[in-house]
Amino acid sequence: MNVDSIRDGIVIDHIAAGNAMKLYRLLGLEGLGVPVAMITNAVSAKRGRKDIIKIDADIPVNFDVIGYVDPGATVNIIRGGDLKEKKQIGMPERLTNVLYCKNPRCITSCEQELDQVFCLTDKAKKEYRCLYCETKASNL
Ligand SMILES: [Zn+2]
Repeated sequence: MNVDSIRDGIVIDHIAAGNAMKLYRLLGLEGLGVPVAMITNAVSAKRGRKDIIKIDADIPVNFDVIGYVDPGATVNIIRGGDLKEKKQIGMPERLTNVLYCKNPRCITSCEQELDQVFCLTDKAKKEYRCLYCETKASNL
């Protein structure tokens, strides 16, 4: 795969160095069977070192996951070889089915069909809590 010639896909840029692997895992890119290029420790004018993920396929990507792992990341959407859209993601207020509550007494542990919802409770600390029992999410 030529990483510079994506026709239809997504480039996640300005990921803090070291976060690309985590993002790759949380986005579930592994199991999709699409071409993905990961560049780690690239030199960035803005952030010193950065990671980049290039997905050479028109697949839905969970932007909340990107914002959760790295609120400073930018997403470039490529269509027909051109940059169609550039998005700054930021920290999501709510995460659905990304984090899982570890409290065994939480209602989500008993009722499996419930969505796992976490809300941002402290932006400065990047702290998320379970919507149902307020258990703090452990960092992934
Ligand atoms: Zn809970």
